[in-house]
Amino acid sequence: MNIHEYQTKELLRSYGVPVPDGRVADSDASAGIIAEEIGGDRWVVKAQIHAGGRGKGGGVQLADSVEDVRKHADHIIGSRLITPQTSSAGKLVQRVLVESAQDIKQEFYLGLIIDRIKQRITIIASASGGMEIEEVAKTDPDKVVREAVDPAIGLPEFQCRKIAARIGLTGPLMPQAVKLMRSLYRCFRDKDALMAEINPLAIVDGDKLLAVDAKMSFDGNAVHRYPEITNYRDFDEEDPKEVEATGHGLNYIALDGNVGCIVNGAGLAMATMDAITLHNGSPANFLDVGGGASPEKIANAFRIVRKDPNVKAILLNIFAGINRCDWVAEGVVQAMQKQAISEPVIVRLSGTNYELGQEILNKSGLPFINATDLDDAARKAVDAVNSLS
Ligand code: GDP
Ligand code: MN
Repeated sequence: MNIHEYQTKELLRSYGVPVPDGRVADSDASAGIIAEEIGGDRWVVKAQIHAGGRGKGGGVQLADSVEDVRKHADHIIGSRLITPQTSSAGKLVQRVLVESAQDIKQEFYLGLIIDRIKQRITIIASASGGMEIEEVAKTDPDKVVREAVDPAIGLPEFQCRKIAARIGLTGPLMPQAVKLMRSLYRCFRDKDALMAEINPLAIVDGDKLLAVDAKMSFDGNAVHRYPEITNYRDFDEEDPKEVEATGHGLNYIALDGNVGCIVNGAGLAMATMDAITLHNGSPANFLDVGGGASPEKIANAFRIVRKDPNVKAILLNIFAGINRCDWVAEGVVQAMQKQAISEPVIVRLSGTNYELGQEILNKSGLPFINATDLDDAARKAVDAVNSLS
């Protein structure tokens, strides 16, 4: 689960990470008021969307007067911001973060990720901040420091000092860097984060280290344990199909292919996607309807899958263990009748009450394409798509 920059900064501030003074605004008027309250004579107005590269897209603007803050806010709020990390349609901006602008002397990169091979939280740091770390890692790998953290020890000071020294944060900056890294790590550990990124981490006026930009994401399966993080969830940033699916107890992830998938069990859903790909097709989604898939649940699954305009055929693959094929079949028939489904529907049923399920399908007189097994189903689904184009 991703959160916004302003939320990340609020969270990090509570952990003692130094961040600029600022607040979020949803209108030009409130942006002006915030600028006045912060004081000073220079501000930065930053579009709040779940995507980076905002600076390149015009989503980060400096302002020399409160009037300018209002103008930038007016311009950014309600616009669709296109950055190297968004689609060409961009993302609708609903809020801006207004902060006191910083006099940046030097920019660094500091990030925490989970290195799945090492099975460790790993710090990534670089003196080449401000830019995309992936680029630096490619062109100048020596400039990227990686340090895995031993979970039994945590992040000790010596390790922070080592990292700081290697990216040139020495002298009076070192104790600041140590404190900042340890605070960031503590926050990361406490909240089951998957990623934290401060880019740029900047040396500003008076040799102070400051997190000028910050971004975090959290483990969606753990986030329910932290209501304060759950509250940060912004449904406007998510695929509405995915949000609706969650509400129906369906596990749906939108992809960019054209074979809609309705499957029970996450493993089988992934195998189904693999099988489609193996037959040179491409899945439109991942969808796990779960164990006790009632006819209503199946009907909802059809509705959500068909909301994707790219879907050309639907593959239903059910291995009924806890499920029952007759229930699933009823759901399919109901959905087909109520939703006037025009896409070819390929059905592969197996397991509990298979015969009953097949009978319901056959009796319905609806134009299903029956498949005998997973491979057959995937091939027929891809064939169905190809015969359309
Ligand atoms: P991103 O493009 O989405 O990563 O947004 P950032 O918050 O990182 O802003 C992009 C760039 O704008 C940063 O790398 C900085 O160079 C610059 N920037 C952001 N805030 C300030 C500020 O307060 N003062 C100055 N001088 N530059 C800033
Ligand atoms: Mn940034």
